[in-house]
Amino acid sequence: MNDIPSPVCGIFGHPGPLWKKDLRLSDLGINALFVDSPSLDGETIERARDEGCLVFAEFATLNGLYDDYVAEHPEAHPIGADGQPAAPATWFMGACPTDPGFRASRMKALRSLLETYDVDGVWMDYLHWHAQFEDPYPQLVKTCFNDSCLAAFTSWSDVDIEGETTAQKADWILHHAPRQWEDWRVSVLVDWAREIRETVKQVRPRALVGNYQAAWKEEDFWGARRRCLGLDFDALAPYVDVFSPMLYHGHSGMSPEYLKEYVEYFCERHLIRTEAGRLPRLWPIVQAQATPPVSADELARVLEYGLGADSSGVMIFTSASVADDPEKAEVVRNIYTGVARG
Ligand SMILES: [Zn+2]
Repeated sequence: MNDIPSPVCGIFGHPGPLWKKDLRLSDLGINALFVDSPSLDGETIERARDEGCLVFAEFATLNGLYDDYVAEHPEAHPIGADGQPAAPATWFMGACPTDPGFRASRMKALRSLLETYDVDGVWMDYLHWHAQFEDPYPQLVKTCFNDSCLAAFTSWSDVDIEGETTAQKADWILHHAPRQWEDWRVSVLVDWAREIRETVKQVRPRALVGNYQAAWKEEDFWGARRRCLGLDFDALAPYVDVFSPMLYHGHSGMSPEYLKEYVEYFCERHLIRTEAGRLPRLWPIVQAQATPPVSADELARVLEYGLGADSSGVMIFTSASVADDPEKAEVVRNIYTGVARG
């Protein structure tokens, strides 16, 4: 891997739409490209490197829609507290994180990605229990109570679950051992991150491991980030080089100014001062995508806020949204080439 630029001026999405408009990544000041792994190919990596970019692959971890996995393997469908398969979220379907077949299939896909492409890093995506946090009205569900999760929880906690049916067992857990249940759910995700990091470093020792994540504070929605999504950033930190909170202000119904507040909060709460700078690194992902509409002026503000406090980079969602709007492309050029000079 080449040296990490400071700051990282990133964009998410295959750069094809920008190239079709004859926009070179380096002309826009972009120095890091983040591409969903199915869209990666050798030619894209080579051209992006020629244009001065590091290339990172997004990797879907607990996404049950991937390869239609959950549809084809119903045993990996998360089970709710009522003992029934959990309903899909708006455009997302999680998977049971303790289903051995699902885990083996994702780890195999990760190894194959790393062996095929010389990427500068892998960004874990969908590392959370089944839920939807990217909408203004988040969908929070209590999962997963299938046999493999109940067995794993019992062995981790030494708790004797009472009840006959799945629904009775879930009810007992939620009333008698909720803290242990939540801590165990965190530990399951941490173990996914541990194995993903181990695999990445084994195949590409210099590659970074990043994580796309819900941009919720500890206390938001009564602690739902840890209690429901299972995300504990301090517990994940040993396995994550770069945290990328998904600060999609438009999708989430937040003002652009919320980014400033959140970036300052995250730096204060989770980054530690070291000789190598503040670690882990923080590179938020900000919204340019026009659903709902995001103006060029808003994009300028969220980019500046995303680079605020001790953040050492930022990335834009998505390349197509910038390619489709000359005003946004101009904003990106001004800010990215400006910070590179500064
Ligand atoms: Zn499960």
